Amino acid sequence: MTEVELVGNALCLDFANSTNWRPVAQRDWLASPAGAVTWARAVGHPVDDDPSLRFTLPVARDLREAVFRVFQPLAHGERPSPDDLDIVHAAYAEGVARGRFVDDGATFRLSWTDPQTLRVLLWDVAASAVGLLTQGPLHRLGECASCPWLFLDTSKNGRRRWCSMATCGSRDKARRYHAAHGPGGEAERP
Ligand SMILES: [Zn+2]
Repeated sequence: MTEVELVGNALCLDFANSTNWRPVAQRDWLASPAGAVTWARAVGHPVDDDPSLRFTLPVARDLREAVFRVFQPLAHGERPSPDDLDIVHAAYAEGVARGRFVDDGATFRLSWTDPQTLRVLLWDVAASAVGLLTQGPLHRLGECASCPWLFLDTSKNGRRRWCSMATCGSRDKARRYHAAHGPGGEAERP
């Protein structure tokens, strides 16, 4: 299995990027319990592969698409629909209602009694989305120039174009090279 790529610079954006294409994915970490377990581990949130996981997967995919529909227009200076914002809000509210504050020393954080579940990871994703929505920097949101991946541009000059130079960046450059220098086959998507 290929490695999980985390290029979003925010948990909610990496979550949106857990599928490689829309509307039909060629690779989707949330398509199976095993994929979800691998993805969750990659973001430092180990999830148990118990029977509840299979039931939470469709919920996870719905939240993921709502998160994408919220941040994708924002990456282009447009506004998301209130319905999609409501979906993110509902997931956030559900998490906050079931969590409790734990003293972390310098700050407090929300904690849940069953942290090994995918449901808790979804609450963390929703909290990440709410943090980005309320605190920004929304003007640093971007969508890759050649795939539907979202990212927070943390570069100094703020001119990041691709999800990653290793995949889409180099492929785009090769495509433009071939377009300018003769025949070349259609490049593969990530
Ligand atoms: Zn890309």
